[in-house]
Amino acid sequence: MAKKILKRSWAENFKIKVVEPIKMTTKQSREKAAKEAGYNTFLLKSEDVYIDLLTDSGTNAMSDYQWAGMMIGDEAYAGSKNFYNLWNNVKKYYGFPYFVPTHQGRAAEHLVSKILIKPGDFIPGNMYFTTTRLHQELAGATFVDVIIDEAHDAQNLHPFKGNIDLKKLDKLVKEVGADKIPYVSMAAPVNMAGGQPVSMANIVEVYEYCKKHKIKLWLDATRATENAYFIKLREKGYQDKTVAEILKEMCKYFEGIWVSAKKDLMVNIGGFLATRNRSVYLEARNLCVVYEGLHTYGGLAGRDMEAMARGIEEMVDFDTIHARIGQVEYLGKKLLEYNVPIVLPIGGHGVFLDAKKILSHLKQTEFPAQTLANEIYVDSGVRGMERGIVSSGRNKVTGDHNYPKLELVRLTFPRRVYTQAHLDVTHESIVSVYEDRKKVKGLKMVFEPKYLRFFQARFEKLK
Ligand SMILES: *Cc1c(COP(=O)(O)O)cnc(C)c1O
Repeated sequence: MAKKILKRSWAENFKIKVVEPIKMTTKQSREKAAKEAGYNTFLLKSEDVYIDLLTDSGTNAMSDYQWAGMMIGDEAYAGSKNFYNLWNNVKKYYGFPYFVPTHQGRAAEHLVSKILIKPGDFIPGNMYFTTTRLHQELAGATFVDVIIDEAHDAQNLHPFKGNIDLKKLDKLVKEVGADKIPYVSMAAPVNMAGGQPVSMANIVEVYEYCKKHKIKLWLDATRATENAYFIKLREKGYQDKTVAEILKEMCKYFEGIWVSAKKDLMVNIGGFLATRNRSVYLEARNLCVVYEGLHTYGGLAGRDMEAMARGIEEMVDFDTIHARIGQVEYLGKKLLEYNVPIVLPIGGHGVFLDAKKILSHLKQTEFPAQTLANEIYVDSGVRGMERGIVSSGRNKVTGDHNYPKLELVRLTFPRRVYTQAHLDVTHESIVSVYEDRKKVKGLKMVFEPKYLRFFQARFEKLK
């Protein structure tokens, strides 16, 4: 007799112990909510959202082990037990001797930028991240994108689209001089490119180059475990190493890292910086007191630091990352079945819809990605976010929009939060919007804040 089961599925490595009911909304109520929010998904009330894929930042479900840690928060002003537990795990898993906690990732970026940058400096990086670049600019630097060209092409299948192009880096060094470049700002993986990883070979190349030119190398390690997972799967020689081993090997090449703990560490708030440079550490520790709080809490409660310490232990578990990235792949593959254009390869933390292709009848100044995010929300209550011309902001010198090549809607997955059925609702909604795409009209911006405009900008529908 022929075997009935031909395929073996995998499933998540957890079961659900506590649930949070979510409201089922109507299309009519969502149309109203979208209008009131100025067609900006960041301004929607969470109550009005059914499936929230706005971000994976701080939206994670903590484990029972993390929640148990919350109960042993040592809320001393100075020198809490949880601070030392967290420091120990930063040393053990990332390999840096020095560590300063901060209330979230951008606070660590603020400290690092303030310490390392002088006005007039240049900071090369692989693509950019919104808050990272802004802190570098506020410290007086000009950011220069040195990512490989493949990253700007949504359909290119390069396995490590986050890599730095050494030729672009060298060109900048020749133009402005190494003394004007305090550090190279590497991110692994690259959020804005669609969660695309960096290879170990590229990290080593960039490290060797920086060493030769006496330029420091710093890493945005916010989702570095996802990067380590991709190295294990895609890079020769790493199949038999654990994610924890690869993460530590990656960190070896950097003078320091900054981290938003709201991602890999599966907590709801927190961040830190870690370094092997003692003088940078001492300065960061001192600035921490000014901007965050004493260096043994950095704007966090003791319980938050304990949840972070335990999150580090869980994040390097292969099955945990596999379950997370497996969900992202599930949604991506479903969309591909219906020929919906998405960024390829499917990235680590979310699926990125190619709004430029989907709404090809709209001009970039009619905000195709912003428009598409709204259409999906109104259709089904699924909330994503714009990653295109709005996020990209304005040119510091000319004041015109930056015109990024990629115009994307990001659907990001909170860790351990949604089920496969939620993902089915999501893909069905996107396919339905895709089929009706020709009818969709664009938006015009009617309110624009000065900094990080995508968070608070308001729009109206074009007639
Ligand atoms: C989220 C994020 C940050 C900023 O961290 P916050 O905790 O949101 O302040 C920095 N870099 C990357 C890659 C991120 O995804």
